[in-house]
Amino acid sequence: MSFFHSKVYDTVICGAGPAGLMAACTLGKLTSGARRVLLLDKKEPWKEPIFCAEAVSTSRLGKLWPVDPSWVRGSISGIYFTSPSRYRAEFYSEDCGCLLNRAGFHHALADGCTSAGVETHFDVLVKKLTRVEDGWNIDVTFGGNEETLFAKTVIDASGPGCRLTRDIECLKGIESGDTDLEPAVFAVAEGIEHSREHIELFFGSEFPNGYGWIFPRDGVEVNIGFVLGKDVKLGTSLRQKLQDFIAKHYPEATVKAIYGGMIACGQSDRPLAKCGLFKAGDAASVVNPISRSGIVESLLCGKIVAACVSEWFKAESEADREKIEAMALTRWMDALGKSHRQLSRAKNVFNSISDKQFDRAARYLSTLPREKQTLFRIFFSVLWACPSLIWKMRSFLH
Ligand SMILES: Cc1cc2nc3c(=O)[nH]c(=O)nc-3n(C[C@H](O)[C@H](O)[C@H](O)COP(=O)(O)OP(=O)(O)OC[C@H]3O[C@@H](n4cnc5c(N)ncnc54)[C@H](O)[C@@H]3O)c2cc1C
Repeated sequence: MSFFHSKVYDTVICGAGPAGLMAACTLGKLTSGARRVLLLDKKEPWKEPIFCAEAVSTSRLGKLWPVDPSWVRGSISGIYFTSPSRYRAEFYSEDCGCLLNRAGFHHALADGCTSAGVETHFDVLVKKLTRVEDGWNIDVTFGGNEETLFAKTVIDASGPGCRLTRDIECLKGIESGDTDLEPAVFAVAEGIEHSREHIELFFGSEFPNGYGWIFPRDGVEVNIGFVLGKDVKLGTSLRQKLQDFIAKHYPEATVKAIYGGMIACGQSDRPLAKCGLFKAGDAASVVNPISRSGIVESLLCGKIVAACVSEWFKAESEADREKIEAMALTRWMDALGKSHRQLSRAKNVFNSISDKQFDRAARYLSTLPREKQTLFRIFFSVLWACPSLIWKMRSFLH
């Protein structure tokens, strides 16, 4: 028996992270098994470690997938904003989000794909995509074997960097490359005093153009890490910088493992689809440019793209198919892309806040009772501490 059910598919989805899993599941449901949909990943999507701090907004996630306590590590009811001199503002809300066990979450999504009639293989590397008449050849390897599959449409959900769709002549204009990738690193560590219901965020020049974090995991372990701006030059490795940060502030900590990854957050106007190839998730750079959250964003993008692919199949002419490909970007921009574009502009302003200004704002806020430390007040305290920001921000507030 052949490894794959077929050599010819309507859609092959490359990558089974949140974007690919959601796209596959949505497409399977929308086409009710009438289309051959294949989801491929080079590894099992629930295999630890997943390079992520795993924080999401519970309400936004719940709109896309029913939240199941079996894959939630815990709920967050507060955020500490910690300034360079360690003044702490606290934002409190019943629902600040939750911390996922992404391995379990991916398992639930993969089960959803199977129920929706999608064929899945989580040990297949997609090596190359080649544009051919009426579709795409997909060269894959698995267990020492090589095979070429064919699909009318492809969804590239292979994560940041977009290696699969680079240097393909007909995709000129939609490729994104490395230009928007920001480096991030985190450790799973024990022995760091923290609140199980709070996440803690660190701002200032210690994390140039980015921020640091401590996210609780199980009450004992934490995820401690940081993201930096894409152009920042460190005199040392990210790993070393994280170890130094931990040693300086948490000398009692035991680091169990360190992981790194790239975050793709450069919202652009590049099309999301061309010639029957659609991009979703990090491959389409849909991460929130300021918070760097990408899980819910990838799920949403996967869903939007799958709906477009399903319409693409119903289109009767090449012109209609091209319109649907163009619509993928429009739908994404209407859903979140426009707000990401504004945040991208605000990011430059945010990056210009000095340590002194962060300290001033956080010191003032820390004198207020918790119920008065609203996000609104936090935002305006930072502005107040840095009046020149108001002038700089006028362009994106319009
Ligand atoms: C350190 C770090 C911390 C983060 N923390 C958060 C957070 O707290 N909250 C949040 O919302 N977001 C966070 N993010 C961002 C989030 O992880 C991503 O935005 C999200 O995972 C993107 O989903 P995706 O499906 O597009 O890509 P991915 O999750 O990267 O999935 C891509 C999949 O494609 C597979 N693949 C790649 N190439 C191939 C190939 N050639 N053949 C077969 N399979 C392939 C990979 O194995 C992978 O499973 C963080 C990112 C990093 C790096």
